[in-house]
Amino acid sequence: MRAMADTALMSIPGQVDPVPVARSITPRADGRTDLLGLPKARIAELFADAGLDAKQAKLRSKQVYHWLYHRGATDFGEMTDISKTMQPWLTERFVVGRPNIVEAQHSTDGTRKWLLQTDDGHDYEMVFIPDADRGTLCVSSQVGCTLNCTFCHTGTMRLVRNLTPGEIVGQVMLARDALGEWPKGRMDISDVEDETEYRADGRLLTNIVMMGMGEPLYNFDHVRDALKLVMDGEGLALSKRRITLSTSGVVPMMARCGEEIGVNLAVSLHAVTKEVRDEIVPINRKYGIDELLRACSDYPGASNARRITFEYVMLKDKNDSDADAHELVRLLKRYDLPAKVNLIPFNPWPGAPYECSTPERIRSFSNIVFEAGISAPVRTPRGRDIDAACGQLRTSAEKKSRAERDREAAAAET
Ligand code: SAH
Ligand code: SF4
Repeated sequence: MRAMADTALMSIPGQVDPVPVARSITPRADGRTDLLGLPKARIAELFADAGLDAKQAKLRSKQVYHWLYHRGATDFGEMTDISKTMQPWLTERFVVGRPNIVEAQHSTDGTRKWLLQTDDGHDYEMVFIPDADRGTLCVSSQVGCTLNCTFCHTGTMRLVRNLTPGEIVGQVMLARDALGEWPKGRMDISDVEDETEYRADGRLLTNIVMMGMGEPLYNFDHVRDALKLVMDGEGLALSKRRITLSTSGVVPMMARCGEEIGVNLAVSLHAVTKEVRDEIVPINRKYGIDELLRACSDYPGASNARRITFEYVMLKDKNDSDADAHELVRLLKRYDLPAKVNLIPFNPWPGAPYECSTPERIRSFSNIVFEAGISAPVRTPRGRDIDAACGQLRTSAEKKSRAERDREAAAAET
């Protein structure tokens, strides 16, 4: 229960704490153990516990690990370098799981969204966003979020539980399944389609952003363990340069994020005055803007070649004036930050207390930042027809009841 201890340590007075999370290994009704999300050494331990001698356990774990994370195998019968007698021994004791899919949606612009469910029945989401030169998977770290940013729909959800490493890395595995991107391709759950190939190795999924549901630095251990699996050269082998972790500003965990995970950092700044940031990003009352920017300037690995992204949601008449833009520039220069700014048009949800800034306002804001020599692109909303924007997850699913979804699924099958 390490995850529980971590979040409890960092609880914010007046906010809900995550409910206890499953251990890294969730017990299954059939008594078998799910290997998804486990590092090689842990797999070897489990094999030894199940009766293999130390040498065998080590060898088998190496083989199984390769099949799991490099080849995307979910069936021990596929593991051709494991003997025909060993395969059923493994199948009796272990499984290789995947997150359960409740609903998969495909936008007209190519964006895909999956509503997933944990084994204990909690919904969470992931989104895949294809672009001209890359394909980005937006991954969730928690079910819900304890932080209650006022413009964020995830923050309004009551139930919060940390996702396990398996549930986090499982999102990446599932995306590779769906895109048919394992070596030798597994097209089993993908609706086959023509999409351009972005890279020499033909993969569509090139980048990962921890920008789905939840605050990744409030589930640090599990996020770190999952991303280690994603980055491991013998497994999924995604470069840390292609992974970005977004935080609302959990200052005490930022240095460890740089040291122990080493991925790119994005910071949800969203306001430049204490008054406004206290309101819209309430964690600001605990870790203020100056503390946050100091932690950014100390972030291990940040440089002009690897800039920190400052996310800024454009809220009409709240944080979008020219004066706000000038103050943003002043702050970033004062801390001498290798920064780029990502302007995000507010994505409204039913009952949201804000409106998106006008396009003219956004342009003016962007120009001021840009003229100061800081890149300030406006993020184009993607997958609007399926409510898929990052940070704006769960909306459409909540509008529909389970019964409605079942009816739709039944209709789709006929
Ligand atoms: N909890 C982390 C990561 C998840 S949110 C964080 O806050 O950084 C990913 C991004 O989407 C954050 O910058 C978040 O502020 C932004 N976001 C959330 N709700 C949004 C909305 N309704 N419209 C636009 N951006 C939103
Ligand atoms: Fe949580 Fe991020 Fe949403 Fe804030 S913006 S409530 S930190 S998910």
